[in-house]
Amino acid sequence: MRNIYDYTKEELEEYFISMGDKKFRANQVYEFLYKKRVKTFDDMNNIGKNIINHMKDNFSFEKIKLIIKQEDKDVKKYLFELLDGQRIESVLMYHDYGISICVSSQVGCNMSCSFCESGRLKKRRNLEAYEIVEQILMIEEDIKTRISHVVVMGIGEPFDNYDNVMRFVRIINDPKGIDIGSRHITISTCGVIPGIKKFMNEKGQVNLAISLHAPNDELRSKIMPINKIYHLDELMDTIKDYISKTNRRVTFEYIMLDNVNDSEDCAMELSKLLKGINCYVNLIPYNETENIIYKRSKNVQIMKFYDILKKNRINVTVRREFGGKVDAACGQLRANNYD
Ligand code: SAH
Repeated sequence: MRNIYDYTKEELEEYFISMGDKKFRANQVYEFLYKKRVKTFDDMNNIGKNIINHMKDNFSFEKIKLIIKQEDKDVKKYLFELLDGQRIESVLMYHDYGISICVSSQVGCNMSCSFCESGRLKKRRNLEAYEIVEQILMIEEDIKTRISHVVVMGIGEPFDNYDNVMRFVRIINDPKGIDIGSRHITISTCGVIPGIKKFMNEKGQVNLAISLHAPNDELRSKIMPINKIYHLDELMDTIKDYISKTNRRVTFEYIMLDNVNDSEDCAMELSKLLKGINCYVNLIPYNETENIIYKRSKNVQIMKFYDILKKNRINVTVRREFGGKVDAACGQLRANNYD
């Protein structure tokens, strides 16, 4: 049986119409699920017994399980167990502009970026949309507060699970549901070009972030194998198309790895690559992990890099560091708790 949290409102409308009920029932059910947060079908009072029984026969209501929670100042990290025993993680962050959740989109990841903990454990399967939705529901239940922003930047490559991720976006974006505005949702990709091409034709204003991490093919292919399939010039052309089609600004993420991609030459090359593109660069101090040899760039080096981009009039910020104490680097909590 398909999980009730896997349905877009339009699909629920079709379901109710096909069982001879009214379309508006979907609105009612969505409000029970996402506004009132009921735990069982029987809690949906004011819906007739027949319909409740029909729903019980057709939908499952199961939730993923919270296994471990780690807390630090302004950040909480959650390890969840899925119904088949697989594990994923999500991170909650408190910012001055609101509260964001970073969700996982796959169990493991096949992209094999050399600095990333998630990729050490290969992809076992895609997440279903409801498994991504429930990460938000479980965390909101834990903190008893509604969150304002969602980033698909946890374990997995969202554009390697395109349809389920877009279904997830439609579900949380629905005004009768969790109602996260599309401008408050960001999808981050390592550069899966066919995904970016599809994404630029989607309705809505969902943000796109690109994990760039290197300014040329040689270096990028060394640290991100995906670059051997989708080269940098083709990636940049696709991003330019995306921007001209959607009129939206793109975020480039750039992890600062000591002595790997943080030289002044790299900063110059990156400035050239991004010149004239409507974008903004997020420099991310690398979150070191025991299992991987890379080191975080020195602060002076990060500042030098930042200054060069600034001087070249690239919009740039250095990402605030979250979760050094909790295992907050992508995939760390899961990797350290795997049987
Ligand atoms: N696959 C997608 C989304 C998941 S990764 C993507 O590549 O964008 C989310 C971001 O975290 C990426 O930019 C990734 O490169 C970065 N990341 C991975 N490991 C990290 C670490 N140890 N420290 C800092 N950022 C890391």
